[in-house]
Amino acid sequence: MELEQRTRELREQLNYHIYRYNVLSDPIITDAEYDRLYHELRQLEEEHPELITLDSPTQRAGSDLSEDFPKIQHPVSVLSLANAFSVEDLRSWEERNQRLLPADTDLDYVLEPKLDGLTVVITYENGILTKAATRGNGEVGDDVTANIKTVRTIPLRIPVHRDKGPAPERVSVRGEVLFFKKDFEALNQRQEAEGLPLYVNARNTASGTLKQKDSRITASRPLSAFIYDVLDSVGLKLDTQQEMLDFLQDMGFHIPPQSNYYPTLSDIIQQLPTRESLRDSLDYEIDGLVIKVNNLHLANELGVVGKDPRGAIAYKFPAQEASTKLIGVTVNIGRTGKITPTAQLEPVFISGVTVVNASLHNYDLIASLDIRLGDTVIVKRSGDVIPYVIGPVTGSRTGSETPITPPEFCPFSGDPIIQPEGAVDYYCPNPRCPERVFRKVEFFVSRGAMDIEGMGPQTVKTLIEKGIITDEGDIFYLTPEPLLELEKFAQKKVDNLLASIEAAKHRPLAQLITSLGIDGVGGTIAELLASEFQSIDELISTSEAVKQAAVAFRNAASPLIEAAENPGANQLLADTQRNIERLRNPLIELVPRYRDGQEIGSRLQRLLKSLEAYGALDELVAPLQAMIRAAQPLIRIEGLGPILVHNIVDWFADDFNQGIIAKMKQAGVNMEAEARTLSSNKLEGMTFVLTGTLPSMTREEASALIENHGGKVTGSVSKKTSYVLVGDSPGSKATKAAQLGVPTISENDLKAMVGV
Ligand SMILES: [Zn+2]
Repeated sequence: MELEQRTRELREQLNYHIYRYNVLSDPIITDAEYDRLYHELRQLEEEHPELITLDSPTQRAGSDLSEDFPKIQHPVSVLSLANAFSVEDLRSWEERNQRLLPADTDLDYVLEPKLDGLTVVITYENGILTKAATRGNGEVGDDVTANIKTVRTIPLRIPVHRDKGPAPERVSVRGEVLFFKKDFEALNQRQEAEGLPLYVNARNTASGTLKQKDSRITASRPLSAFIYDVLDSVGLKLDTQQEMLDFLQDMGFHIPPQSNYYPTLSDIIQQLPTRESLRDSLDYEIDGLVIKVNNLHLANELGVVGKDPRGAIAYKFPAQEASTKLIGVTVNIGRTGKITPTAQLEPVFISGVTVVNASLHNYDLIASLDIRLGDTVIVKRSGDVIPYVIGPVTGSRTGSETPITPPEFCPFSGDPIIQPEGAVDYYCPNPRCPERVFRKVEFFVSRGAMDIEGMGPQTVKTLIEKGIITDEGDIFYLTPEPLLELEKFAQKKVDNLLASIEAAKHRPLAQLITSLGIDGVGGTIAELLASEFQSIDELISTSEAVKQAAVAFRNAASPLIEAAENPGANQLLADTQRNIERLRNPLIELVPRYRDGQEIGSRLQRLLKSLEAYGALDELVAPLQAMIRAAQPLIRIEGLGPILVHNIVDWFADDFNQGIIAKMKQAGVNMEAEARTLSSNKLEGMTFVLTGTLPSMTREEASALIENHGGKVTGSVSKKTSYVLVGDSPGSKATKAAQLGVPTISENDLKAMVGV
């Protein structure tokens, strides 16, 4: 009787949580807590099948169907997996299976990672990809064929290598679409560089990306996929899971790495601790392991219980999420003045570590997730990433929670906090703010930046507090005397520090640029700048020229802006408002659009149509052209987005920053690019444009090869372009080349030209 009561409770609770999760999108328990309840119900039902009711959550699988897509019927049911949380669970799974099979049947297994992605079913007919669908409700899924075709790791035709063929008449495979950690990071860096909100959850973002109505958006985001199962086929005979994986690999699918065969369950159990400890070092998120009976005939014989096949089980790792209370928010000021809020939490134990602080991202995201002080929040911790708040558990609010707003004044310098137009973040605008100076110098001397040994954060702090340095330029003027007076600074230590400062004067240009701490300019961007500009002076003069042109543009545009914003027109149309924004930020909004410098007049007229009534748009053309010309050295660098160009110009055209640079230059810090020794001058005078994916080298490698032989690489095709180097799935640049009659070449052609 008690059991019946407990199963009823569990059913009700789970159904309620499913409703909160799926219908309200507002879960009040973590996934792990849900899994525990589900598992308990599952076990009770297995031991007492008479307690299973039709409304039990175990009798249905989740659904990801949406109304926006046509549906595809799966060839067979796409099943889910039962979960195991312990070694005992695994042992009893094997025992149950053995009871169902003839006595003395030996079971062997394949162990695979349990990928944290989105399940897809892809069908190939005579080797051609014809259909792709999401899992949906397990019977029908959303048709995402066009979007799946944009995922580079999914072959459009199998086998990829002819000698592995032929492909079966028809085969439907199952796999998981996901973001590699580095790709997800890069996606967020791009969002950040463009001033757009960050994505919090890789899995949800992957799902959202795959369900874009416009497959160009899907294509622009670096999704990956692993394929691990043959669901159904015609003309294919497989006896074991291992053969299946071999088949998939032969066809050219990306199968999950570390999918291995083990003769017994004990062998697998021995593997569990190692596999779990490797979890964070993998390139992709996994939330457990999948153990499959290797013999497909036996697996088939074992059949299905509910929606789960008996022949496979998911071993779940301990949760990386937990809920706790948000008891405070601290404000940190970074070197650029950017304010980052950090959550103070009631201590909570997550996968082996007690967490008391977590990232709250930024204030816009706090507002959009509606996180409030005093909320119970869900916190995630995975790998080396700083733990972060996923969102609030709004169901457990008491009414005493308070909204979290950015501070009005900088807690360190007292300056009013600003939010630059169009920016997500808030800033302390004062470059002399002691906290900003500290963060800046701390970064400047760090490894990967100027790499000055013996200057830890505490030393930096003391030097600033004692007024010995006021910015990073002062470091190069340090003398032994004031240092010797510092605590724990003996002669030897002072000598070492000064030697290390002396060495830092000779760092390569790119390293110096990195050290300046310009918002968004890390090592890669610094390398790009150092290969385009010969010196810091060149960067300054380009930035000054752009700034001057921007001032001229602003002068030309301001009568127009004023007229459009006159008091009579207090109800501005959205379109007009948007166009005024464009005029206010020409470097970000207009320059990138017209960088080719062609037909600016008529294109500007079309873009700013709603402003026509307020003044002469023609007058903007000349100053805009001047701006584009001035910015050319920056905007032609591929990989440098408009926001970065803006940040770079802002930094180098700034008087305060120029003062620091002058100080360093005076002290003998290297400000020049090293003369490059070329491998040959075979490509001298030639200009190349790259498009598409090259077969055996990255774009960076191809650019380096071209530059090493005296050639130049630019971002856009013009009549002056000598060659367009075309790879797989080229963009509009290849079309442009054809229009302008610019010859196109392949990677092999390029190699032949330089003789490698
Ligand atoms: Zn401040």
